[in-house]
Amino acid sequence: MIAPTRSGVALLRRNTTHLQGLSRTFASSASRKADADFTHAVVGGGAVGLAIARRLQQQPGVATVLIERHGTVGMETSSRNSEVIHAGIYYGHDTLKTKLCIKGKEMLYHLCSRQSIPHNNCQKWIVAQDAAQLEATEKVHQHASSIGVPTHFITKEEAARQEPDVRGESGILVSPTTGIIDSHSYMKHLEGAFEEAGGICAFHSPVTRITPLTTSASSTPGSGGWEIATKTPDGEESTIVAETLINSAGLNAIPLSNSILPAHRHLQPFYCKGSYFSYSSSHPRPKTLVYPAPKVGLGGLGTHLTLDMGGQVRFGPDVEWVDSPDDLAVSDKNLRVALGEIKEYLPGVDTESIGLDYAGIRPKLGKAGVTHAGGKGGFVDFYIKKEEGFEGFVNLLGIESPGLTSSLAIGEEVYGLLYR
Ligand SMILES: Cc1cc2nc3c(=O)[nH]c(=O)nc-3n(C[C@H](O)[C@H](O)[C@H](O)COP(=O)(O)OP(=O)(O)OC[C@H]3O[C@@H](n4cnc5c(N)ncnc54)[C@H](O)[C@@H]3O)c2cc1C
Repeated sequence: MIAPTRSGVALLRRNTTHLQGLSRTFASSASRKADADFTHAVVGGGAVGLAIARRLQQQPGVATVLIERHGTVGMETSSRNSEVIHAGIYYGHDTLKTKLCIKGKEMLYHLCSRQSIPHNNCQKWIVAQDAAQLEATEKVHQHASSIGVPTHFITKEEAARQEPDVRGESGILVSPTTGIIDSHSYMKHLEGAFEEAGGICAFHSPVTRITPLTTSASSTPGSGGWEIATKTPDGEESTIVAETLINSAGLNAIPLSNSILPAHRHLQPFYCKGSYFSYSSSHPRPKTLVYPAPKVGLGGLGTHLTLDMGGQVRFGPDVEWVDSPDDLAVSDKNLRVALGEIKEYLPGVDTESIGLDYAGIRPKLGKAGVTHAGGKGGFVDFYIKKEEGFEGFVNLLGIESPGLTSSLAIGEEVYGLLYR
């Protein structure tokens, strides 16, 4: 049996907006540490933390707490992205990004259909304007075929019939499994499912300190559970103990990990801002997402055209390396360059109708490109590991795109690390 201890209750009572969970007493057959308040503590209430918490809470007899510093879910990167359900065609063979994106995409479409979460399998075009871009696009097609993700080229005539305003001078590659999702509705669904299964959300609870406990002087750190301290809004500290710790803190995941791991295992966080540009005109308004051919070494996928669930066009995100995860002011630094890129694939665009919209920051493990093409650009995969030398510590670092698409599969991955 594990039940919230006094300190755990204090944390939840002061910080959660979901007090009903407190009346529960948790019966945990999976509990190994008699004095733990929870089986699992997931730090971070973004799409990924939510998907993990929901999956772990499905295990019979567990008690999972999701700890989030803001007052509700998805206040950081998960609500500052393109909301694209990616096909999984940009990342290398045998990478977590490819595996989890393809699996996550299938799981996401399935969940969205079953639970009526707004989404649209609207497809995407990758457009090439010259021979070099066509070569890059052909490479994407070959790679997609080799990993079993459908893509196909269409003729100029077919393209003109479907999207008369979009230009792909040298070639157009279609990705039929790409789509868009209302990420807010998705996260609200995950939160509801997690709580319905008995999970607890502790909001307004910034984690300030994490201490791995031991059962004896010679035992592995974490063998006695994980003491997690948070600050209440009135500045008071409260602590809980959980048997396992899942670090899914997005932009803050590397600093949090560095506060636990020894110095030689510390990593440097890199922050790559992407600004979006709004489009207020109703013309041209394609119904398909449009991406330029990928460029090796670029920190993003190029200034693309995406759509929201209402069919509203937006452009972006661009690429700007910044020093702080809080530097979220939307920037016009690259607007002139972006306008050039947009005009290439959407010549009839009304540039007067393009304005600044919002920005998100990609949590990066290095300044490498996002595509697998190798060479100078390099490629950095998701870091999802059960940390060696500790018991019950799963670390998720560099969960940039396609993290939203992959989130349900990441939930399965973490479940597998802890239970298989
Ligand atoms: C510009 C941009 C475009 C993108 N486009 C796409 C796309 O189209 N498709 C796609 O699949 N992916 C996309 N992504 C990637 C996707 O948005 C992320 O991979 C995903 O949202 C990551 O979710 P998360 O839960 O890991 O992180 P987050 O959403 O950042 O959640 C982390 C949470 O941890 C909390 N936290 C941090 N520190 C603490 C602490 N000490 N105590 C308590 N809580 C804490 C934060 O408050 C936050 O809520 C894009 C990303 C960016 C930046």
